[in-house]
Amino acid sequence: MIKKNKGYRFRLKPNKEQMVYLEKAFGCSRKMYNLYVDMLYKQLDEKNFINGKIDYKAIDLPTPAIIKKDYEYMKEIDSLAFANVQLNFRDAIKKYNSEFDGKTYSKKAYNLAKAYDAIIVEDINLRAVGQCLKLGKSLSDNGFGTFRNFLKYKLEDMGKQFIKIDKWFPSSKMCSNCGTMKEKLQLSDRIYKCEKCGCIIDRDYNAALNIKEAGSALLAW
Ligand SMILES: [Zn+2]
Repeated sequence: MIKKNKGYRFRLKPNKEQMVYLEKAFGCSRKMYNLYVDMLYKQLDEKNFINGKIDYKAIDLPTPAIIKKDYEYMKEIDSLAFANVQLNFRDAIKKYNSEFDGKTYSKKAYNLAKAYDAIIVEDINLRAVGQCLKLGKSLSDNGFGTFRNFLKYKLEDMGKQFIKIDKWFPSSKMCSNCGTMKEKLQLSDRIYKCEKCGCIIDRDYNAALNIKEAGSALLAW
């Protein structure tokens, strides 16, 4: 039997009063979602990661009804809207966890571990995970942390080295050519231009060179 999914599109024509309610409901739902992200982020340290997965059970996330008590203005919003927020949040975490299982990760990690004797990376920034959830973005973009865990495991399994650089290391702000530090570097600045030595280089490539340099000093041969 062939399964077909049908989608329906509805167009709502709310009156002014309904419009106000809907805007409130959307605003409150967003707020609720962000509260969940903040709560997760606060608890998201090593202890809640099992091999890079988010251990949902180890994280204490209150129900929307409990959260609502602290926000007077949320009281008039239908509970069903908030129940959906909780479900969406749960789904986002599930998706994140299932992508960890993805075979593509392990294959890529295996190939890299086979090709190199040492791999140097920047330490995982858990804040990025939180940011990613906040943006409602697919966590596959941010599955880098989990990929890295595979990579570490594979390298060490082969007796090779996996080196993590401190997450506060200014890999992006530093000029890889002369070591000068840039005061301001926006995320939108894709090209690194050094005012001191005149070096013009791709932002990510510059950061990679700095990471390689910092990591090489830590290599044990
Ligand atoms: Zn420079």
